[in-house]
Amino acid sequence: MNDTEELAHAVAEARAYVMWATDAGLCILKSDSSADNEELMRAPGNQPASKAEGHTVLVQESALHKDAAAPGKPGLPTLASVRAEMGECTRCKLHKCRNQIVFGVGSAQARLVFVGEAPGEDEDLSGEPFVGKAGQLLTKMIEAMGLSRDTVYICNTVKCRPPNNRNPEPDELESCEPFLKGQLKALQAEVIVTLGRFAAQALLRDQTPISRLRGIWREYEGVALMPTFHPAYLLRSPGEKAKVWGDLQEVMKKLGLRK
Ligand code: SF4
Repeated sequence: MNDTEELAHAVAEARAYVMWATDAGLCILKSDSSADNEELMRAPGNQPASKAEGHTVLVQESALHKDAAAPGKPGLPTLASVRAEMGECTRCKLHKCRNQIVFGVGSAQARLVFVGEAPGEDEDLSGEPFVGKAGQLLTKMIEAMGLSRDTVYICNTVKCRPPNNRNPEPDELESCEPFLKGQLKALQAEVIVTLGRFAAQALLRDQTPISRLRGIWREYEGVALMPTFHPAYLLRSPGEKAKVWGDLQEVMKKLGLRK
């Protein structure tokens, strides 16, 4: 990447962060010109954050890729083999009302995986997870981390849309779980971020409310797992976005993307 491209990349990332921070209800204040011209960020409630907290660290997207040349571990599935095993799945009743299976999207080499709940209408029509309004917010979250959808992996606990966007039912979660497990095994990511109650409870086998699960590191089969709120919830409760941004900053630290 030449200097001009690097500058354009940095500006795009900074813009994405500002969009997210503004969207999140975080107030970005510029200090006056007599000061050191650094930006400070205040959390809702007017409590000043430290300068260190207020700065995002811009990272190269390549930092989020595992070594693409690294061989897969013997005996582990690949994303393709999991998808092939799924076929035109009819293992639960959700197959009756779907337009298409929404398997997952992103890099097979991702170090970071987002797991949501279930496809909605937009996802059912497009075949890609998180493309509706909640998905657009997730994209902003990812870009605010200095990343892109192409460098992470995104999927859901169930791969078919529940009718009228109702919650997935226990038998549906159970039927689809082997596919999610297969995806996570294939990816061998370093961090899993679960979005919302169902993904966290499904992977952790923990019925604790998401309001108490979020923000605390857990582990799923040896992989660090950070539960946080679902972007759809954030659309309804924008005041909670600052908490999610705090969770994502922890993830960035874990991945070495910020100090
Ligand atoms: S939700 Fe999962 S288990 Fe149910 S039909 Fe779709 S792919 Fe199969």
